[in-house]
Amino acid sequence: MARTARRSWPWVLAIVICLATMLGHNLSPSAGADQRQAPEAQVHPLPESLAAWEDSAQQGDYFDQVQPNGVGYFVWSEFPIQVYVGPATASNDATGWQQAAEIAIQDWQPYLPLALTTEPSAADILIENRKPERRSGERVRAAETRCSDLYVNDDNRLDHRCRINISPNQLGNQAHRMASVRHELGHALGIWGHSPSETDALYFAQVRTPPEISVRDVNTLKRIYQQPTRLGWPLPSATE
Ligand SMILES: [Zn+2]
Repeated sequence: MARTARRSWPWVLAIVICLATMLGHNLSPSAGADQRQAPEAQVHPLPESLAAWEDSAQQGDYFDQVQPNGVGYFVWSEFPIQVYVGPATASNDATGWQQAAEIAIQDWQPYLPLALTTEPSAADILIENRKPERRSGERVRAAETRCSDLYVNDDNRLDHRCRINISPNQLGNQAHRMASVRHELGHALGIWGHSPSETDALYFAQVRTPPEISVRDVNTLKRIYQQPTRLGWPLPSATE
C-alpha cells in the first residue's frame, strides 16, 4: 500500500507539546489534539518479534515511566517502519555518522521490523544530523525526538511521524553517538519515558560506557505495544 502521499490532518491544530526535559536532551511525544473524529483507542496485535519475546529471568521493566498522551501510546502498526537517515552535517565525518545511525537501527531490528528508505517523504522516522531546535527558555541539547506530526494516511488511518535530531557537535566518541541514536530511536519506537537504571539504553543521562539495548528496554517496549492507541486505526467514515 502506498505510504508516500500524505494528507495532513486539518483538525490537529492544538497540538499539545508534552515536553519532558532531561539531562542535555529533549523529549516530546506530544500530539494531544482535537479528537472529534479520532478513532477509538484499541490494542493492535503484537508484531511477531515482540510476541516471541520472553524474559524468563523476569528482569522487570520501567513501563511506569512511560506516558501516553491524547492519542494513547505511540506504537507503530504497519511494518517495516520506514527510517530515513539524513546526510552528515560535518563533511569530514560522513562515514562515521552514517555508520552510527545504521548500527543503531540494526540494534532495534530484532524487536521491531525497520527498513531504511532514501526518500524522506516516505519515512515514518527521520534521523537528522543537525542541532535540536531550541525553543525559548530551553537549554542547548545534544539530541531530541519529536513525534508531533499526526496525519491521516492513504488507508484512512491515523498515523504519525517522528523526527530525531542529533547534534553534529555532540560530545563523545563514535560509541556515544551510536548510543545517542539508539536512545532516541527507542523514543521514536514508542518508549516515551526514561529508565532510572544506567544499564538500560533509555537511561536518562549519557554514561561513560553506553549500554546496549537491555532486556528491560525490550520488556518495556513489549508492554507498550500491548496498550491501546488511536494510532493505526481507521477514522470513522460516517462523520466525514
Ligand atoms: Zn531520552
